[in-house]
Order: sequence, then C-alpha cells, then structure tokens
Amino acid sequence: MQFNPNASLDPSQMGGGGGGRRGGTIAVGGGASIVVLILAVIFGFNPAELLAASDPYHAETRAGSQPGGLAQSDTRFAGCRTGADIAQNPDCRWVAYTNSIQAYWGQVLSGYRPAKTVVFSGAVSTGCGQASSDLGPFYCPADETVYFDDSFFELMLPRMGAKGGLAAEAYVVAHEYGHHIQNLTGMMAKVQSAGNQSGPDSPQVRLELQADCYAGTWIAYAANDPNGIIKEVNRSDLYTALDAAQAVGDDHIQKTQTGRIRPESWTHGSSEQRRYWLNRGFSTGDPNQCTTFAADALTRR
Ligand SMILES: [Zn+2]
Repeated sequence: MQFNPNASLDPSQMGGGGGGRRGGTIAVGGGASIVVLILAVIFGFNPAELLAASDPYHAETRAGSQPGGLAQSDTRFAGCRTGADIAQNPDCRWVAYTNSIQAYWGQVLSGYRPAKTVVFSGAVSTGCGQASSDLGPFYCPADETVYFDDSFFELMLPRMGAKGGLAAEAYVVAHEYGHHIQNLTGMMAKVQSAGNQSGPDSPQVRLELQADCYAGTWIAYAANDPNGIIKEVNRSDLYTALDAAQAVGDDHIQKTQTGRIRPESWTHGSSEQRRYWLNRGFSTGDPNQCTTFAADALTRR
C-alpha cells in the first residue's frame, strides 16, 4: 500500500476524545473499571450495549490495562496535511485511511454522514460508555465515531497470528466504518433489535461479515483511484488484509485461546467466512453484493 505524496489530508475527520465528549464521564454497568474480553467483542460495535446486556462480557483485568487514561487530542493529527507528511509522521496514515474510506462512502451512499476516527491510548470516554484498549477497535453508533488504540495493531493483532502491515490496519479501520454504514442504513438497529444472538449464521455474524465485505469494496475503490490519498494497493496488500481477517476469525481465536471451537458462541464469523466476504467485497467492488443477510448467503459458496 502506497500513499500519494501530493494528495491532501483532512485531519478534521479525526476526533479528539469521544466525539466531542472529551473529559466527560459516562458510567456503564456501575463498575469503576470495565474490561472486556477482547475475544468476545473484537471489532465489535457499541460496547455499552454489550456491557449492559450481560455479565459474561465482563472479564478479569488483563495486564497492561490502565483504565482512566486520556484520549489523545486531535492535535496529534493537526500537522497531517498531505500524503508526504506520512513519511515524516506515520500517525498521519490514520488520517489517510479515514479520509479515503469516507471519500468512498460519500460517493456510493447517498445521504452519507461523515463519522470521526478517534485514536486513543489506554482508555477513552465515548458516547457508548467508558472503553479501554482491551476492547479492540470498535464503532459507537451513539456518537458515530470509530475508536481504537493504535497499540492494538502492534501488540494484539500479531498476538492473534496476523502478519500485520498497512493493509491489515486499513482493513480493520474500514471494517469499523462498515458498521457506520450499517448504522446509517438501519441494518445495525435491525440486528440489535433481534437481540445479541450468536452462532455461525446469526444476525450478529451476518452484520460483522457485511462490515468485512464493505471493507473489501473500499479496498477495491482505493486500488482503482490513483489520484486518491492511497496511490497503490497491490496483490500482496490484499493478502495482508485477508491474513488479518483470517486471524480474527472466531474459530481461530477460540482454537488458539482455548483449544476448543464452539460455533454456537461465534459473534463475528469464522476465518473462512471473514476471508470470503472481505474478498467478495474486493472482487466485486459493489456494496450491493454484500448480501450476508440473504437466507442462503452463508452456506452458498
Ligand atoms: Zn465489527
């Protein structure tokens, strides 16, 4: 993945600390520190719903978790003005992914409303409650913001077995923006009203796989827009993204963490499902092909 040094960057799409709620405290579940099993909600959406819904998502504190930390302010990205800035300040790549993803959706989804990206360190106050790094990247529909601690990509993703790299990062950010699309289209509300079900063909898994597919359609767009901020996406970038999708598959996570695969508790889909839908998005370049909710979508191959 290469960036176009001459393309401009728009750092105003980066939020400063909880989508304008910086400094605010929003209690969830009454706990002083809320730590969530990354396994349960990785790449999820709306942690408040998950936290409020049931206790099983609460888990023991993981090493390295420091709830109460502060979100990085958006001044971190203020100097990100062109693609050339990424070479000087690698943090600017988060602006590049965000800008490119939103440029894409602004073109293909009529009535698209821009979201924000917040990169935080340790913990953050969000419209969906207090969240820590352990949650992994997530999207909060209440404040229409994508949140992640960038250490996730250096620490957690490799631990889960992904090679990592720019395209892996971009895939994850695009997946979270896929949830923003689902929020705008009403699909997210539909699934949430059905309750937090799990299982390989559950509405929850279908929602996650659709977000993967949406990430794929954006990658296809970025690959075909040489004047955009992302100058080039090559074959090896696609493999890098697919490798990350493989690593975060529920069956892979379960196998490596507990040695046991329990499809009935899947919330995001298997490695094969995630790879399939990411690649389907990429190969068609058409969000209308992200038909994970079709009755036979998850069995048809
Ligand atoms: Zn997700």
